[in-house]
Parts: sequence; C-alpha cells; structure tokens
Amino acid sequence: MSATARTAANSNAAPAATPMMAQYWSLKEKAGDCLLFYRMGDFFELFFDDAKAAAATLDIALTSRGEHGGEPVPMCGVPVHSAESYLARLIRAGHRVAIAEQVETPAEAKARGGSKALVARTIVRFVTAGTLTEEALLEGRSANRLAALAQVGSESEIAIAAADISTGRFEVVAVRPDQVDAELARLAPSELLVSETAEALPAWTARQVVRRPAGEFSSGAGQKRLESLFAVQTLDGFGAFTRGEIAAMGAIAAYLDHVGTGGAVFLQPPVRHSASGRMAIDAATRESLELVRTMAGTRDGSLLGTIDRTVTAAGARLLADDLASPLTDKGAILDRLDLVDALARDALWRGELRAALRALPDAGRALGRLVAGRGGPRDLAQLRDALGGARLLRERLARRPDLPPLLARLLPGLDGHGALVDELSRALIETPPVDAAQGGYIAEGYDAALDALRETARDGRKAIAALEARYRDRTGIASLKIRHNGVLGYHVEVPAKHADALMAPESGFTHRQTLAGVVRFNASDLHEAASRVTQAGVHAVAAEAAHLEALTEAAVSRREAIAASCDVLARLDVAAALADHAMSHNWCRPDLADDPCLDVSGGRHPVVEAALAKSGERFVPNDVSLSEADRLWLVTGPNMGGKSTFLRQNALIVVLAQAGAFVPAASAKLGLVDRLFSRVGASDNLARGRSTFMVEMVETAAILAQATPQSFVILDEVGRGTSTYDGLALAWSVVEAVHEANRCRCLFATHYHELTRLAETLNALSLHHVRAREWQGDLVLLHEVAEGPADRSYGLAVARLAGVPAGVVRRAEAVLAKLEAGREATGGLAAGLDDLPLFAATIAEAPAAKPDALREALAVIDPDALAPREALDALYRLKQLWAEQEGSGR
Ligand code: ADP
Ligand code: MG
Repeated sequence: MSATARTAANSNAAPAATPMMAQYWSLKEKAGDCLLFYRMGDFFELFFDDAKAAAATLDIALTSRGEHGGEPVPMCGVPVHSAESYLARLIRAGHRVAIAEQVETPAEAKARGGSKALVARTIVRFVTAGTLTEEALLEGRSANRLAALAQVGSESEIAIAAADISTGRFEVVAVRPDQVDAELARLAPSELLVSETAEALPAWTARQVVRRPAGEFSSGAGQKRLESLFAVQTLDGFGAFTRGEIAAMGAIAAYLDHVGTGGAVFLQPPVRHSASGRMAIDAATRESLELVRTMAGTRDGSLLGTIDRTVTAAGARLLADDLASPLTDKGAILDRLDLVDALARDALWRGELRAALRALPDAGRALGRLVAGRGGPRDLAQLRDALGGARLLRERLARRPDLPPLLARLLPGLDGHGALVDELSRALIETPPVDAAQGGYIAEGYDAALDALRETARDGRKAIAALEARYRDRTGIASLKIRHNGVLGYHVEVPAKHADALMAPESGFTHRQTLAGVVRFNASDLHEAASRVTQAGVHAVAAEAAHLEALTEAAVSRREAIAASCDVLARLDVAAALADHAMSHNWCRPDLADDPCLDVSGGRHPVVEAALAKSGERFVPNDVSLSEADRLWLVTGPNMGGKSTFLRQNALIVVLAQAGAFVPAASAKLGLVDRLFSRVGASDNLARGRSTFMVEMVETAAILAQATPQSFVILDEVGRGTSTYDGLALAWSVVEAVHEANRCRCLFATHYHELTRLAETLNALSLHHVRAREWQGDLVLLHEVAEGPADRSYGLAVARLAGVPAGVVRRAEAVLAKLEAGREATGGLAAGLDDLPLFAATIAEAPAAKPDALREALAVIDPDALAPREALDALYRLKQLWAEQEGSGR
C-alpha cells in the first residue's frame, strides 16, 4: 500500500484518543525542532506542522486524523520498510528527524495497563545530516562532517571541532575569530553545533545550525565526556588541547550521545589540524575558485569533479581534503610530488596499483557502522577483503626498488591485521548477507558445534524427504507432498479428493487445514523430524550471532589501526589518480622556488578546457611570469576575451601544486603561497545571490588587511559593482595599495582602460591584455594573453557577437564616437586622476593617446548640413585617412 493510500484509509479510523495525543506531545517536546516519526504499526506517522513540512518535501498526501482543539489534525505517514529513502530526502532538504519506536508489544501493553492501554513509545534515535552512518543516506565520495564551535571566556581564539562519524575522523583547530568562516568553508560541515548562548553566528552557515545547551560546551564536562568516550585517564596522550578545543570536542561528543541516545559512536582520537602548515584560503576565495564544489553546490564542474580519477570512495574524500587545504611546507609537498611523479613515470605499476585499489571495499565506513552497532556480516566481509587486499598490496609494493620516501613511510601502516584477516577469512562465507537475522554467514568448518547443528538440520530435512516417499507408499497417493510454510511449519498436503483416506482416525495423520483444492495434515513422525530441524536451525542462528558479536568486537578493538590503514590506501589512491590524470592530460610536475615567483608556461584552466573539449574546441594555453620586480599584472581586453579564465587558471595551478599534484601547464615554477585570495566583482558574481557592492568591498578590505608578500591574489573586475566613477576610483586605489603595501603577487583584470596609466607610476606593475581582432566586421577573440594594454574595449563588437540588433549597434557606434570626441577635448574619465594624493605623486604626463582620426573625422560630419561639393570633399578626406591608417598597420 502506498503512503498516500494508507494515510487516506487511516483518516477514516476512530478519532485520536486523548492519551495518544498526550504521549505524542511529550515525545514531540523531546524531539524539539526535529520532525517526529511516530511509529504506529507498519508506519511512521507525522502530525501537525511536522506532517505539513514532510508532506511538502516528500510530495505525499497530507490527510488528517481526529481533532485537536476543534481542528482536524494534519497527518501523513511513510511505511517503515521504506523509511530510509524518505529519511534521506528529508535530511537532504534540511530537516532533522526523531524516531519514536514502539518499545512494547500491544499484548505487553494490555498486560501492563488493561485493554485500553497505549503502547509505550520512546525516541530511540535522531537522524541528522551530520550524524549519519547508513550507507544509503551517505554520499560515498564526500566526507560528511558534524562541527561544533566553542569559545572559552578567557581565550581569544575560537575552537572548531569536526567529526566524520562515518569514518571516525575527528579533528580540531583553534583560529582567530576572523578566520572562523574560512575554516568552516574548508570543512563544509553538513551540521554545525553552537551554544544556545552564543551571540553571533558565523557568516558561513552549515546546511543546518543547531543550538545546544550551553552546558554541553563547557571544557570541564567535555574533558570527562571525552575521557570516557576514549576510555583514557587523560587526554594528554592525544596532544595538548586548549580549553576551547576540549569544549568544542566535548560538544560533539555530547551531541552524538544525544542523537544516538546512548548508542556507541565511532570517533578516532582527535587530531589537531594545524592551520599553520596550510595555505590560508578564505570562504569567498574558496567559493569563487570552485575548488571542491561549484557555486551552484555541485561536485560536477568543480576542480575536484574535473580531475578526480580516484578509484575508491576514501580516495575521493581525501582528494577533496587535499584540494581544500593545500600545504605550505615544502618538504611535505615534495614528498607528495615525488610519489605522484614515480607513479606518473611507470604506467604499468600505476595500472596495477589502481586495479588493486579499485577491488577494495570502503573499509573505513564499514568500520564506522560496526563501531556504531549498525554493522553486519557484510561489513565484516568488507574489512576482511580490504585489509587482506592491503596486505597483498604492501607485499607487492615492498618488493619495488627505489620506493619514494613517502611510500616507504606509509607502507608499514598497511600491516598488522594478519590475525584479524585470517580469523575473518576462516569465519565468514565469501559474500555474507547484509542482515544477520537469517544466519548462514558463518563458514563451514569454523565452528564444529555449529557444523553439527547444521548437520542435524540437514539430516532432518533428508529424513523429511524420506518420509514423503514412505507416506506415498503407505497411502498410495502419488500426489502427496510434504510442504513448509511459516504458519504450519512442515505438513503433509494432498489434493482434496484424496483427503478422506487421511481423515480416518487410524491413518496416523491429524487434520490441520482445508483449503479450496488441498487439505493439510500433520503426523507425529513428521512433527518429530520437523522440530529437530527447527531447533537445530534456531540454535545455529544463535551460534552465528555469538560469532558475529565476537568478530565485531575483534574488529572494533583494532579500529584505530584499521582506520590508519584506510588512510594509507586513500593516499595511494590519490597519488595514483593524480598521476593518471596528469599523464592523460599532459600536466607537468611543478618546481618549487624560494623566491616569490610564479612562472607558468602553457598554463590551462582544467575545468574550462574540459568543457571546451566536449564541444571539440581547443583551449589556448597562456603564460604568466610574476616576480618580485614584476609582481602585479593588469589584464585588460574585451569581454569574453578570457581574462577571468586566465586569472583563475593561475590560482588553480597554485592550489594544485601545493596540494602535491601535477599542474595543467607545460612547465611551472612557483614560490610557496601562504595565502590565496580571489575576488570577483559583484556584477560578475550574480550566482551568489547577494551581488551587493558592500560584500565586494568587505571582501576586498580583507585582502588589503591580510595579503603578505608571499600571498597570491586575483582580482577580477573589482569595483564593477558600482557606478563608473566610484568603481574606477576604488579599483585604482586597490591596485595601488596591493602594489605598495601588500606587495603580493597579483593578477588584476579590469575593463577600466584608464587603470593602464598606473603602469607609469607603479614599477612592479605591468600591462597585459587578452588579444582580439576584428575581421570583416566580426570580432575574433583569440584568448591569448599578450603584453601591453588592450587598444580598445571592443564592447560594440562583443554586442554584435552577442546578437544585439545591427541598428542598435550602429546607433551605439555613433554615440561612442561623440563620447570619445568629448573625452579628447575635456580629458575624459581619467582626467582628474593626476591629482590623486595617495601614491600618485609622480604620475607623468599622459602620453598622447593615438587618436583614431578616421572616427573623429566621421563623428564631426553632419550630413544634413553639407552641400554636395562639401560631401564629396569629406568622402575624399575619409578615404585618405583610411589609406593612412591601413598603411600604418591599423
Ligand atoms: P572575460 O573574463 O574576459 O570576460 P572569460 O574568462 O569569462 O572572459 O572567458 C569567456 C569564455 O571564453 C570562456 O567561457 C571560454 O569559453 C572562453 N575562453 C576563455 N579563455 C580561453 C582560452 N584560453 N582558450 C579558449 N577559450 C577560452
Ligand atoms: Mg570576466
């Protein structure tokens, strides 16, 4: 029955009894702002606003049941057997769900409280975005994090703890208040815990922000909770943590306790994430570079989505972490690069390694489910196969000469599970079921007693088969059969026409059931054989369950070592995947320099290139060369000319290089970047839905405050979000400040042609443009970055390219000619800029811009005012001018 049909049927049932509503409300109070799944028989029902919200999200019928305060009570429901898929949709839509189960049978309720007694119900679990372990509810290739923010009064820093309970990874970091957004953007938690007394929420918001009691954010309580969670006397063994860090971690532990209502959770000992060894990338930069997801929130179309060739889910998660958090430690980057390099050089080895990794199951998440008590035989088999595979892999890898140092260090981490793998291999059948209830997953030969029980059951079934032949002989009924079903168990079945013979009292058969065509009987020897089979079966299932528990225990007790091995496998997968992608796309190994340079030849934008390749177009590679003496490139040129692409590709090359990957270029050399900034002018950034000039300026201010000489900044059309004069003035002063004060490497794209005059005063600034040509009246964008300023903006040609009607474009040409003529006369837009006091004290006289005489001559012609003879003169003059310009190469 569909959810819709069922709720409709239910609405005709008796009106809700008051005791039920009372029970409902007391559970709802505990559920707080979570939707309450209220178990009624085979359904979870939702009432009131919960029902409305769920019906809207799930697109199921909203009905009603009884009345409350004179109003019908809105209701909807989902079948228990398919609840998971509904849960997944609710969670994805941003809800949290409390599951209230029946904790006694109706019979027990009657025995307890009489015939009218209500079945007792309790919330057994909360299902929330950050605390999922179910395979069906998780996206395998992304991490799923729960984060908590805490600040302890005396400390200036804010601590952020983050846990992925599907893999047990638990990290903590303490940052300055202004870095909270950047850290949260890196972690991208799906659920964020803050104290209910916290005043300011971070600007960066998780899909869900959950306020929890302040007591759960105290460092004292947190300490105790963590000590008991990890069963240690003191946390000192894991490192020295600040009180804020302990409070944040404690809040996570408390919340897990709350949502699991006491069940086990899987957390590895916390690791302190050191922001110091990492490139600082703030939230706006992360968003605009689309490192691990696009602005629209998809993985597809991001840098990660484009280059991800990992073959395991854990590898995919690690690659996302790597790209989200590039390194700044030269040694660590070189270690990664050496490994990728070795794998890039040896295609055969790489292929073998990837094939071996591809065959391995996601042991990390299987372990997570086992620790959480939601694991089963299939999870143990996944551990067996993954760890067994890891052991073989280590043996094969260890035989290679010249292991890259990182690999040599990683290999031992794959070892040490021999006893567990052997045990699991002996204990489990090849592919055990997910669910343990029916048994049948423990292998023959593992437990003699279990084998004996199975033997007994088998013998019993053989005896039953033999009985069938004997009964046929005895009764002479050839169509007599022994059958089995859930209600009668084993029984004798004969067609109705033969039933009489068996009905006779001396026949040895007892009548059980008469159906349309057949009649069913029991017999004492059959009953005996059948109960031997059943009993042996029950005992066998129990014996298997005991083994399952012991094996789970054995695996769980080694959880930290297993998780460490999973990390090693993921690292190998990432290195091999990066090598594979690099080889098939002609990427190169970047060189790390000690001076703050950025030298790229033949650089490409991997995402744009991939998109172009799909439509058979070629990406035009471009070079960049920044150094201390030439650290700021001002890039001008027509719209759609490739400015934004050029800026971003260089930022992505920096990210890839410091993540330890090869880069999309023919060659690349860079001095390590400590902070990376990317800003896109407000009007170019409509996708963000808050395209205010204010945001743009706040974000730009952050760069001016934070960028160091080791930083790399891309500024794309900054100042564009306001009227021309303001925008130009701001862009001008931002360039000056970046050049004079921050002294970072910077690429600045602008359509303000006037900015090119900055080259006269700022000696580490140089001018570049994306090339374009007009050919037979059409604009051809070459997407080539060249030296010098763009000669003009080609705005009208772009408009024509974009399909603006020819008449409108012609009219615009006339207007433009007037404007430009006016500018020549008055000094134009940039006229007042010479007097700027800030950094412009030495701006030289503007060089005489090469006037376009032909246009000017055209502009001053007023055809209506010309005599025929004058018109002819004018025509000759124009023709002459044209010939001169052609001659000078224009
Ligand atoms: P701008 O910022 O100058 O307006 P974009 O960088 O947004 O231009 O590029 C516009 C389009 O031009 C891109 O979507 C892409 O299709 C194409 N493009 C940009 N750079 C290149 C390139 N180097 N090679 C080929 N096509 C490019
Ligand atoms: Mg652009």
